[in-house]
Amino acid sequence: MTYKLNFDQDERFDFDGNFPSLAVLAKYKPAMVKRVRKSWEDERNFLREHLSPLVLSEDLKHAQNPDHISWEMLRVAGRHGRLSQYIPGFMGGLGNSLGLSMMVNLEEQAALDCAFCGMMGGHGLGLAAVFMTFNMRILQRVADQIAAHQNDEKPYVIDCAITEPTAGTDVEEVELYPKARLMCQAKRVSGGAVLNGRKVFISTGHMATDHVVIMPFDQRDAVNTMGCFLVSNGTPGFSLGRMERKMGQKAGSASELIFEDCLVPEESILLAQDQFPEEKFQEQFRMLLHGVLGITRTAVGAWSTGTARGAFDRALYLAKRIKHKGRTLIHQQWAQALLTNMHINVMMARGAYLESQFALMRGFEKIPLVTGFPPWISDSSILAWLFRQNWYRKFLHSRWMHRQILDYARSSISEDQDARVQFMSSLAKVVGSDMAMENCQLATEFLGQAGLRHDQGVEKIFRDAKLLQIFEGTNQLNRLNIFTHYLARHLSGVEVF
Ligand SMILES: Cc1cc2nc3c(=O)[nH]c(=O)nc-3n(C[C@H](O)[C@H](O)[C@H](O)COP(=O)(O)OP(=O)(O)OC[C@H]3O[C@@H](n4cnc5c(N)ncnc54)[C@H](O)[C@@H]3O)c2cc1C
Repeated sequence: MTYKLNFDQDERFDFDGNFPSLAVLAKYKPAMVKRVRKSWEDERNFLREHLSPLVLSEDLKHAQNPDHISWEMLRVAGRHGRLSQYIPGFMGGLGNSLGLSMMVNLEEQAALDCAFCGMMGGHGLGLAAVFMTFNMRILQRVADQIAAHQNDEKPYVIDCAITEPTAGTDVEEVELYPKARLMCQAKRVSGGAVLNGRKVFISTGHMATDHVVIMPFDQRDAVNTMGCFLVSNGTPGFSLGRMERKMGQKAGSASELIFEDCLVPEESILLAQDQFPEEKFQEQFRMLLHGVLGITRTAVGAWSTGTARGAFDRALYLAKRIKHKGRTLIHQQWAQALLTNMHINVMMARGAYLESQFALMRGFEKIPLVTGFPPWISDSSILAWLFRQNWYRKFLHSRWMHRQILDYARSSISEDQDARVQFMSSLAKVVGSDMAMENCQLATEFLGQAGLRHDQGVEKIFRDAKLLQIFEGTNQLNRLNIFTHYLARHLSGVEVF
């Protein structure tokens, strides 16, 4: 079964017409926007030519066998450079920015298949976490592995494990950690750390070769004793548990990770509070989590916008073909008004994620590792040469250098900017995912039986969309986050969280 992309939509959705803010930005940053446009075009070509035939057939395979793993999708992504595209060029990737490029690409992906985004999202979350630890040694190791294995039968991807069976929402906000019922704990031993506990609902877990794992050394004082570890498959004491049987986004596995006296060597510790005992580093975990959530909640906003657009595209496509009382739906005024509402939802969601992305770029503007290097740096052959030299790697990978980068990163984002990133990214996530659900609901009602049939793709996108309101903090929690980081700052004496 194949789902054909609806090509007559292409003229309607062109880059300039739908991203007017980027057209304005192009006047000031032409090279940057040119790169974003190029990466968006590459993404679109990849989706049309290589992913489109797999969307419905892979979903059916999951329905027939819940233990099915979509290696085929991961393989096409690897072979077309999708797994390394956000790694800087000088580190062996394609050099598209983890910021603006990633956001517009996510919208494009989700318009075709929200579930494929879920698979790529696990890998993206893992990458964002590695970037935010500023551990250049492990970042280079991960980049090298992605590049070396992207053409393999089972390409190299990573994931990021935060959620525990007894702590979901409470580990999505630094402020809630003191209330969280954590069951995972790391212990310092000579030469590294030993991990114990279970993580659940980890996207891409059964596909990943390495896992970024976040757990504290002391559950009672989690924020001040947090550790971030890279655990490889095959490490004694680490195993994969069950794969969740979830209602949608089946292409991306949601996995249980089990740690039983799992020894992580020192060189695989991405960041641990006790590596930097000075007081100024105590806030480091807050920055890691805020940075990761800022990026990934904006990303869920973009992914949701694509999902809202996907529901609209499918509804429009069918409205041109289905007849009601002898007239094609598209010619009926009530249908035109409904389709317009769906389109408005897409535009509102897009505005929210782009504004959030601009807040992120402003907040992290001095840290291009997070927002993306300008093309002339990312593509620099001198830097690429430097990054291959052992003496340079040794210098860049030293604990001293890690300390300098952390110090610089921590001091280059102000409290105000951090708060803005927090509430804007929550806003993008809430607006986008609510709009995605609303459009799926409208499309299903609008199309009658066609909306319920698997081969039309609407019932699948409906199942996929619901999950967007839950992860990266539920929408309820994100609403509270907007209140805390925005409204409460302008009100006195209000208790929050
Ligand atoms: C498909 C999928 C993929 C995922 N991928 C990952 C991943 O890759 N890595 C990862 O670490 N996690 C992942 N998660 C986990 C996800 O982040 C959690 O499901 C989410 O944070 C919610 O936690 P919970 O499910 O435990 O719900 P709970 O925390 O049990 O919440 C239940 C309800 O209570 C409400 N609630 C809870 N606490 C509060 C509070 N303090 N204030 C107000 N309301 C509250 C919630 O809003 C919700 O309505 C994934 C989840 C899904 C569904």
